[in-house]
Amino acid sequence: MDRYHIPLSVLECMNRIEQNGYEAWLAGGCVRDLLRGETPEDYDIASSAPPEKILKIFDRVIETGIRHGTVTVMIGDFPIEVTRFRVDGEYRDHRHPETVIPVDSIEEDLARRDFTVNAMAMNLTGELKDPFGGRADLKSKLVRAVGDPDTRFSEDALRILRGFRFASVLEYTIEEKTLEAALRRVETLSNISAERIFGELIKCMLGAAPQSLEPLINAGGLLSAGISSGRKLELLAKIPPECSLRFAALCYLSDANPETVLRRLKSDKQISKLSAGIINELRLPAFVSKAEMKTRLSGFPPQLWKGIIETRGVLLGEDIAECKAWLTAIMDHNEPYLLRMLDIDGFDLIKLGFKGEKIGEALEKLLGEVIVSPELNRKKILLRLVEKHL
Ligand code: ATP
Ligand code: MG
Repeated sequence: MDRYHIPLSVLECMNRIEQNGYEAWLAGGCVRDLLRGETPEDYDIASSAPPEKILKIFDRVIETGIRHGTVTVMIGDFPIEVTRFRVDGEYRDHRHPETVIPVDSIEEDLARRDFTVNAMAMNLTGELKDPFGGRADLKSKLVRAVGDPDTRFSEDALRILRGFRFASVLEYTIEEKTLEAALRRVETLSNISAERIFGELIKCMLGAAPQSLEPLINAGGLLSAGISSGRKLELLAKIPPECSLRFAALCYLSDANPETVLRRLKSDKQISKLSAGIINELRLPAFVSKAEMKTRLSGFPPQLWKGIIETRGVLLGEDIAECKAWLTAIMDHNEPYLLRMLDIDGFDLIKLGFKGEKIGEALEKLLGEVIVSPELNRKKILLRLVEKHL
């Protein structure tokens, strides 16, 4: 176990459970990540102990999902989910089961899990339980359903998306029979809430290989449109991993309207608004000057500017070296591109006798000047400009 650098809190938690006469196994995603040499985001323990016992063994336990046999043990500030060995109860409508049934062994618990690489467990002695060949699939970089893929996807359609998500995030291939079964059942995704679909989709899109989604999209599983022929979804992987950029690129490549798609997927409004704006931007010709770039990008948050420029480079094949140099200059010198960045405001103009609409018009004109010549953005100079020309 030592070589895996598992946090002491986790080891302590497992140790205490074992000292009380129960089994404790790290299980699921954390074992997968440890065997891949990655640091897991969280550690889940599967145990023979019922949650009531865990509540007695530890001082600080949060009853996070007691109905499903899960509690969260706090060791210091470190949360660890401990779940009693369980299998799923009856499935309705291809969704997660309403009930769970406790079982006696880790092997039975592992059999309910979705993919072989997620169906391994490890205990304190370093013993690995791997009844479905997860380790071999990890080496071959394969996402393979545990057991019969058709049955597993029919139990819970979210697994279809999870499969594509792991393919994207881990850069794995979906094993042939698993892929066929997933694509056969694409329409059952409609039973899953849009929020859960969107949650998985974001992870897929931000993965290292978002092009893994292509078969699912072309099977009609996500967007109304498929990917237009000749458009390469591999390009997505080169887009900076930011939600709105990658969604915009996906919609651009699939000729889908981002606002319609993202509304249907119940995406965060901010993401769909930004994606729609980015697509509009992608439809414009290349930037011809630094000033034009500032004007066109001023509606986007500055942290997206570089990504938008890079996205143009990837999707439109533009040479973006000059744009990047312009961007560096803008950021380094804090060049103004918004009204509120002007070194003058409406009150200054009122003092000069401006009224009503004229105030806004004058400020817009000044901004136009300053966008072209940032060195003019000093109160004295701006006031002089107003007096002379406006
Ligand atoms: P992540 O890196 O996103 O946390 P994960 O594999 O840990 O990936 P979780 O959603 O945290 O995913 O689930 C933990 C484990 O529970 C999985 O590894 C898998 O064994 C099992 N699991 C989760 N969701 C399902 C599901 N829908 N069907 C079957 N097993 C599942
Ligand atoms: Mg997890």
